[in-house]
Amino acid sequence: MSKGKLFVVAGPSGAGKATLVRGLLAADAKVQLSVSFTSRAPRDGEQDGRDYHFVSREEFLAMVSRGEFLEHAEVHGNLYGTSQKWITDAMAAGQDILLEIDVQGAQQVRKIFGDEIGIFILPPSAEVLEQRLRNRGTDSEDAIVRRLANAREEIARLAEFDYVIVNEHIDQAVRDIIGIVRAERCKVAAQ
Ligand code: 5GP
Repeated sequence: MSKGKLFVVAGPSGAGKATLVRGLLAADAKVQLSVSFTSRAPRDGEQDGRDYHFVSREEFLAMVSRGEFLEHAEVHGNLYGTSQKWITDAMAAGQDILLEIDVQGAQQVRKIFGDEIGIFILPPSAEVLEQRLRNRGTDSEDAIVRRLANAREEIARLAEFDYVIVNEHIDQAVRDIIGIVRAERCKVAAQ
């Protein structure tokens, strides 16, 4: 069986990663999204098991100590992690896998695999990013300020990724990510 590809999508909160990933998954049935675990409380409309596996901070830390995460990180004061078991099973099945994680998690994945394909999603400008976070209406002023400060640090690490997509027009950005995934599948294997 051919080996599946591992795609890692990162970028600041508010860059539109989730929308882009949804567009990709709708267009490409071969890509399987890893549903992360988080200690963050669900936002309105979020479903346990679909958007995240929501667990308490205590449960999350117990999973860390049992070695159940491939990678995990604290982002904006909440804990997030990728299930080791899910990844192992999906890889054994030869599936293409997509992780939507932060830059710290992406760095951990790079150390483990080294052949993953990193895609960074960039908002068109700092102003647009702030506007998107405010329009979302899901975060407190405190959380917005924290997310904006974090965004600057994340963007500084853009060069660690293989591809960058500027998410100015969502339709074009979705076409870009679909194109990247297809191009990677067409790549001639390294000798
Ligand atoms: P949000 O709370 O807005 O859903 O996500 C906040 C940040 O956590 C985003 O940058 C998101 O990509 C990241 N994130 C989500 N799941 C994971 C994960 O499993 N691991 C890591 N390292 N970051 C994650």
